[in-house]
Amino acid sequence: MKQRKIPLRKCVACQQMMPKKELIRVVKTPDGELHIDLKGKRAGRGAYLCGKQSCFRLAKKSRALDRALKTAVLPDIYDALEQDFIKVEDEFIAGKDAVDDEDEE
Ligand SMILES: [Zn+2]
Repeated sequence: MKQRKIPLRKCVACQQMMPKKELIRVVKTPDGELHIDLKGKRAGRGAYLCGKQSCFRLAKKSRALDRALKTAVLPDIYDALEQDFIKVEDEFIAGKDAVDDEDEE
């Protein structure tokens, strides 16, 4: 039986280890801006969250992004990110189903 290695990342809100494609990456760019990074390719320090609004809210409440990104995240920024998060959620879920096999051989 073939064992495929799935890279795991930890959700900064609920601390669960999850396959990368189950998580949404929040990135702090070198300019210090925070963005949702759906493709996971932007340069900068990243933090991962489950693709669930509940986890984003948890992160906001516990200021998990502040800790994960080693930066002070203002409430406004959390609010803006939450809006983005909601916007990308559908795309994220759709993309997750599409990339079923990512055999890189
Ligand atoms: Zn989570």
